[in-house]
Amino acid sequence: MTLKATKGACTLCEKEYTRSGMGKHLASCLTKQPAESIMDDERVSLHLQVTTRYPSDYWLHLHVDERATFKTLDMFLRKLWLECCGHMSQFFVGRQIIGMHGRLVTLLRTGYEIDYDYDMGDTTQLRIKVLGRYQGLAPGGKAITILARNHPPEIPCDACDRHPAVSICPECNWEGEGWLCRKCATQHSCGDEVDYLTIPNSPRAGVCGYTGV
Ligand SMILES: [Zn+2]
Ligand SMILES: [Zn+2]
Ligand SMILES: [Zn+2]
Ligand SMILES: [Zn+2]
Repeated sequence: MTLKATKGACTLCEKEYTRSGMGKHLASCLTKQPAESIMDDERVSLHLQVTTRYPSDYWLHLHVDERATFKTLDMFLRKLWLECCGHMSQFFVGRQIIGMHGRLVTLLRTGYEIDYDYDMGDTTQLRIKVLGRYQGLAPGGKAITILARNHPPEIPCDACDRHPAVSICPECNWEGEGWLCRKCATQHSCGDEVDYLTIPNSPRAGVCGYTGV
């Protein structure tokens, strides 16, 4: 199997792009939103890109009220992508930890990057970059809305390397294997005793039993 960069759809106009293409697209798509979607001209929102700090196919583009707290962003990332069993998490820049109760506006400017870790053991390492700053909030006025996210990437089966994996054997996953296609899962030697995990569309797929629910 050859892997290509995963695309995702813009929730504003439904056009499809890869992560970096989506960043450029949204810079213009966001400015073309109808004026009535702006509820309150005093409010300002940020366009954030969330990726992993290692190469992966997982990414998000978010529209965030700049007055939201880091805690709100933390809760959002946990719910959408990360939460398995209530691990610790933190935002930081270099060695400087960012307080959860601060508001994004106090720190974030266009072009800034901050890091985020979920779980200090099997850490999911994210990087958050501010791609832009816009007058008004997202339609609906929610603190955080998704502008775009990657479609589920195709990950090759560890057994045959030919078909995309659809489930994870939790036993073999400890050894860094056990991502199986439909066919190989039925012939897998760990058998009926184990509960195979579905593969969530998240960088935490296969980590600490994370199933996305
Ligand atoms: Zn668009
Ligand atoms: Zn966990
Ligand atoms: Zn297979
Ligand atoms: Zn197995």
